[in-house]
Amino acid sequence: MSEEIRDPKPFTPVQPVQLGPGDRFRFRCRKGIPCFNECCRNIDIMLTPYDVLRLKRRFDLAAREWIDRDTRDFQMDGHGTPGLKLATKPGTNECIYLTPEGCSVYEDRPSACRYYALGQLAMRKKGEAGEEESYFLVREDHCLGHFEDGEQTVDEYRASQGLPQYDAANLEWRRILLKKRSAGPAIGKPSPKSMELFFLASYDVDGFRAFVASAGFQELFDVEPELLARIMTDDEAMLAFALRFLRQVLFGEFSIPYRKDAVARRRERYREKVERIEREAAERASAEQDAMYGSLDD
Ligand code: SF4
Ligand code: SF4
Repeated sequence: MSEEIRDPKPFTPVQPVQLGPGDRFRFRCRKGIPCFNECCRNIDIMLTPYDVLRLKRRFDLAAREWIDRDTRDFQMDGHGTPGLKLATKPGTNECIYLTPEGCSVYEDRPSACRYYALGQLAMRKKGEAGEEESYFLVREDHCLGHFEDGEQTVDEYRASQGLPQYDAANLEWRRILLKKRSAGPAIGKPSPKSMELFFLASYDVDGFRAFVASAGFQELFDVEPELLARIMTDDEAMLAFALRFLRQVLFGEFSIPYRKDAVARRRERYREKVERIEREAAERASAEQDAMYGSLDD
């Protein structure tokens, strides 16, 4: 008896076709299409640093306030690298920004929303410095945009969605993620402190600004005055600086110099602190001994 083997044909939304910047694909989304808003009812949108920056500014909130209000956190890998996803309405998978009229943050919608129905892949070939960008088409049953008239190249589509600006602002962050992933165990498990800094540098541009303005940072790092003045008022410049700092912390790629004698001063302060703690511990032990032997004399 022969056994019938059924191919369950699991639904896979990703077409296994890689597209380059000049490749053409058929897709058009428009108001009034019968599936309007369907793609925003079941979301899983990972946010990039520039997405956060644009949206927190739209609501005129400090980055941390916006993050706490409109995102949920997740871990991007086994090392606990912090990631953010757009929040959904309570009890649903629907985007918090979805209204019957469409996206209420359209001008500042995240990169993932702009890319849809394209997915993006970045790969670094062994031994090569740069990374290779490629794209793939995401076909989901509910999306009727694939049957509309309209064809364009990947690059034309990216331009129509305002993506060159987003991609340029996120490029360094994506490179850091790629390097972190490809380095794997070679750089070891990152410390909890470096993961905190990853969060601060990647998403909390206002928190990072306060960190740069702090006495501790100013005492240790020598930032050129013009650059310092710019990053204190310009979010994009601060994000670029924060990612420079992150490279320094994660990979030891020094581009922000220490102030002369600052390291020596810190070491001296650390030595004094250790000596003080040891002295206080010795005094406490001595006081306890006095109390014990004193009580024997009674
Ligand atoms: S941000 Fe706008 S486009 Fe993106 S999922 Fe939400 S409603 Fe849809
Ligand atoms: S065509 Fe696709 S992307 Fe456009 S509204 Fe419909 S489901 Fe969303």
